[in-house]
Amino acid sequence: MNAVVLLGPPGAGKGTVAEVLVDKGYRHVSTGELLREQIRLGTKLGLEAKTLMDQGQFVPDDVVVGMIRDLIESVDSGSMFLFDGFPRTLVQAEKLDELISDLCGTLKNVFLLECPDDVIVSRLSGRRTCSKCGAVYHTAFNPPSDDDGCDQDGCELVQRADDSEATIRKRLLVYAEQTAPLIDYYTNKGLVDTVDATQSIETVRNAVLEYIA
Ligand code: ADP
Ligand code: AMP
Repeated sequence: MNAVVLLGPPGAGKGTVAEVLVDKGYRHVSTGELLREQIRLGTKLGLEAKTLMDQGQFVPDDVVVGMIRDLIESVDSGSMFLFDGFPRTLVQAEKLDELISDLCGTLKNVFLLECPDDVIVSRLSGRRTCSKCGAVYHTAFNPPSDDDGCDQDGCELVQRADDSEATIRKRLLVYAEQTAPLIDYYTNKGLVDTVDATQSIETVRNAVLEYIA
């Protein structure tokens, strides 16, 4: 298996970029989305994760790594994975290296989406997500074509519980403490391609596509 990682603070636009890479054949794996699926299903894992997520804290490494391991092992070994929101800690990054190496795979690129805090706060405050398919919009920067619902399935668009300003600030602190060290980790391996994520959605997507081509 081959893999690429989308790295960057919450709200930098990782999920938005991922949409175009899916069209290129990548299998999009968002750990945040996998956890929200567990919450929707009302599982024990989901209930435990929700308390942490609503406070802007991370779910324990072993839980997240377990989900990724199960997923990788259950799909075609020729898959190209696009990890979004994973890894988020050094422990997770080391575990991902082990999982990839066990499957004789390669981590091809790490795309670092750089975005300052004030831009992130305005993006996350206006983010709206489809309650059914998870498609992502923004009230001002990327509104749905029909105000009443999702362009894909017409379902209700909702604001995530963790997209309140206080929780966004907490998530930014956790990112700086626990995830930002991954920039050096992957830079030392020569894997990082940096993208200015403050640009328009189309420009950011094209920048990533150019690196991949
Ligand atoms: P992440 O997956 O990194 O948390 P999202 O892809 O969900 O971020 O994007 C966060 C919010 O910002 C969404 O409302 C999205 O529509 C909006 N957004 C994403 N990329 C851009 C961009 N380049 N310019 C303006 N808004 C953007
Ligand atoms: P996201 O959808 O990527 O913004 O993630 C939403 C929330 O899910 C995060 O704030 C964390 O609480 C949790 N989460 C997602 N991915 C991870 C991860 N790799 N490690 C720990 N917690 C995670």
